[in-house]
Amino acid sequence: MPNAERKTKQKQAVYEALCALDHPTATEVYGFVRAKNPTLSRGTVFRVLGGFADSGKAKRLCFAGSDVRYDPTLTPHAHARCRRCGRVFDVRLPCSSELIETAKSEAFEPDGFEVEFFGLCVFCKNTENLK
Ligand SMILES: [Zn+2]
Ligand SMILES: [Zn+2]
Repeated sequence: MPNAERKTKQKQAVYEALCALDHPTATEVYGFVRAKNPTLSRGTVFRVLGGFADSGKAKRLCFAGSDVRYDPTLTPHAHARCRRCGRVFDVRLPCSSELIETAKSEAFEPDGFEVEFFGLCVFCKNTENLK
């Protein structure tokens, strides 16, 4: 397979994993991709994901105490993160443009935001109730 074609295939595989998984870390993407593409190296997966983030095809999510996660959803949205297992859920904000406006001042022109909610996911909440 020509090199360019192989690269395109690698990118496709990584992008599919990104969409199939929920806000995965690079390690999670690597685990998913490797099942079908055993020749894909960890370095390649990390590099491709970094390329997606740099070119605006995916967003890098940096949560405290967690590895960088990647998100293929580019429309403005917030995240809810489970404090126990770290699972990340999308939260649609009804008024994202107004939210951005609130940060506007003479000294600052906002063009994006990061909103993070904390809590427990249903799974962790249920296991907590079992105790
Ligand atoms: Zn949880
Ligand atoms: Zn998201």
